[in-house]
Amino acid sequence: MQRNQAALDRLVAELRRAAEDGQPCPSNQDLADALDLHEGTIADMLRAARIAGLVAMLPVGQNRRLAAACDGSWQTLPTRIGAGRAQAADKVGQRKCLRCKRAFKPESRYRFCCDLCAAVNAREAA
Ligand SMILES: [Zn+2]
Repeated sequence: MQRNQAALDRLVAELRRAAEDGQPCPSNQDLADALDLHEGTIADMLRAARIAGLVAMLPVGQNRRLAAACDGSWQTLPTRIGAGRAQAADKVGQRKCLRCKRAFKPESRYRFCCDLCAAVNAREAA
């Protein structure tokens, strides 16, 4: 629980930093890269942070959003149009996990699954 709280604080700090720098709301993939976490974990953490009242994620138009403090003390610009999954997948060094289809950064070019799926594969092979 303590660790989760620390991770949520880091996530909110990232959003706040974007706000203070006048940047757009980072995509889940950007946040995953910044915090060295799985993109799916970021989605869960954003949900938890919203429920805990640490941050408000506000939809802007159809596919964009901005992040804001619940007390209104800061807010990011809306996400860039087209930011997110499609663009993130084009980043050098990223590929999609063959098993769960999430984007991840392999440490070698011979890795085709994310860490989570590699762990599951190793367990199944044992
Ligand atoms: Zn995977």
